[in-house]
Amino acid sequence: MIDLRSDTVTRPTPAMKEAMWSASVGDDVYGEDPTVNALEQKVANMFGMEKALFCASGTMTNQLAIRVHCEPGSDVICEKDSHIYLYEGGGVMVNAQASVRLLTGDKGRLNAGQIAETISPENDIHNTYTRLVSLENTMNKGGGSYYDFDEILKIQKVCNERRVALHLDGARLFNAIVETNTPLKDYGQAFDSISICLSKGLGCPVGSLLLGTEAFIHKALRFRKMMGGGWRQAGMLAAAGIYALDHHVERLKDDHRRALALAELFSRQPEVSYIYPVQTNIVILKLQDGLDAQAYVDSLAKRGVLAIDFGKNLVRLVTHLDFSDDQLNWLSDQL
Ligand SMILES: *Cc1c(COP(=O)(O)O)cnc(C)c1O
Repeated sequence: MIDLRSDTVTRPTPAMKEAMWSASVGDDVYGEDPTVNALEQKVANMFGMEKALFCASGTMTNQLAIRVHCEPGSDVICEKDSHIYLYEGGGVMVNAQASVRLLTGDKGRLNAGQIAETISPENDIHNTYTRLVSLENTMNKGGGSYYDFDEILKIQKVCNERRVALHLDGARLFNAIVETNTPLKDYGQAFDSISICLSKGLGCPVGSLLLGTEAFIHKALRFRKMMGGGWRQAGMLAAAGIYALDHHVERLKDDHRRALALAELFSRQPEVSYIYPVQTNIVILKLQDGLDAQAYVDSLAKRGVLAIDFGKNLVRLVTHLDFSDDQLNWLSDQL
C-alpha cells in the first residue's frame, strides 16, 4: 500500500535513528538537554531570530504564538481555510480567548490590501480588535501553494503601520524555500514569530519549533509549561530534527517533482475534473460533479494508494520521504 494521505506518515530513516540513538540528553525542563539546546540554537541562527522553542507539535507552536500575541477580546486575521482556524480544535478561541476575522485568499494566500481593510482598531468598544495576522506558507488547503515574498513584505508593512503582529504557520515552509530560494533570514526579518514543523516533509517522528524574540519565547515557554508541554530528555527527538535539517531539506525537490508526476497521472483519470496547480508536495483533485470524495478514496485504496477525502468533492495526496520513483512507476501502472 502506498500511503499518500499526508507527509506525516513517514518513518525515521536508519541514519536518523542512529542520530537519535546516540544523542546526548538531559532534563529540558531545567534547560539542560544539550541536543534540544543545539537544535533551538541552530534553527534560531538559520532564521536570524533571537530564540527558538522546541515543542511537540505545530498545533502547539501555533497556539503558543497566538496565546502570546493575543489577549481575550482581540482577534486574529487569517484565511478561512487556514490550519489555525480549521484544524486546531478551536484553540484560538479557547487558549487565547480571541476571535478570528476570516478572509478568502487566492489558493489560500492573503494579500496586503485585504488585510489593511480588515484590521480592526482598538478604539471602538463594539469590536474585537486585531492583534495578529497569521499567514500559512505553504498553504495546505490551497494545494501546497506558496507566497510571493514581495507580498509578504507588503503585508509586513501594513502590520507594522497598524501595530499588529505577524505570525507565520510555516509547517511546510521548507517546501516553499526550496522552490523560491528566499533566504530564511528574510523570513526571520519579516515575521514576529514563525512556526516550523519537523514531522512533515522533513521526515522526523515528532516536533516543531517556534521562533521569535527572547521576550516572546520566554512568554511562550511559560504557556508551554501551563499546557503540560514541558518535556524531559527530548534530545532524542531533537537529534532527529538536527539530522533532518542537515539532510532532508534539498531532497524536498524530489517530492515536488513526484507530486507533479502524480498530478499528470491523475489528470488522465475520468473521475477527476480539475487539479489545483501543483507548486510543492500537495496534489488536490477536484472530482466530477456528483462524485463522492470518500467513494473515490475507497476506490483508490483498492488500487493500492491511500489518499484522503478533503471535503466535498476534493481528494488530497501528499508526497514525502517514503514515496519513491519506483512506487510512482508502480502506481502509474495501477491507475
Ligand atoms: C500539520 C500542520 C500544522 C501542525 O500540525 P501538528 O499535527 O499539530 O504538528 C500546522 N499548520 C499546517 C498548515 C499544517 O499542515
